Amino acid sequence: MSLEELFKEIIIEHYQHPKNHGHLDHPDAKSEGSNPLCGDELQMEIAFEGDRIKDVMFSGNGCSISQSAASLMTEAIKGKAVGDARRIMEEYKHMLQGSTYNADMLGDLEALSDVKKFPARVKCASLSMAVLDQALQQKK
Ligand code: ZN
Repeated sequence: MSLEELFKEIIIEHYQHPKNHGHLDHPDAKSEGSNPLCGDELQMEIAFEGDRIKDVMFSGNGCSISQSAASLMTEAIKGKAVGDARRIMEEYKHMLQGSTYNADMLGDLEALSDVKKFPARVKCASLSMAVLDQALQQKK
């Protein structure tokens, strides 16, 4: 299996069986956003424990890129300190911009690296990051 095929499989798997999909009973932060160009909609809910993201869930609908990115992103940051989550988001941004990035920090999120070749889809892939950023800003 080529790396490209592996990446495609990861995206399809997270689209068909998204992780962390649904709602939290007692979220500390909530945000939502959309990508009108594609029709993607996303909501994120976070529960904090001290400086850690104790739990995170997303809901919404849209294309396979936007939804699998949300699933992969929530998997990547769940249980992490807020500062570490921000560093992962920063690396993810570099990847989508076509800059050099730290693959170790991104883990399975790297499956979305080919999206940078399709400028119209970059907004789909970055929606989860934008919505997450808004939610993190609500942390006191
Ligand atoms: Zn989309």
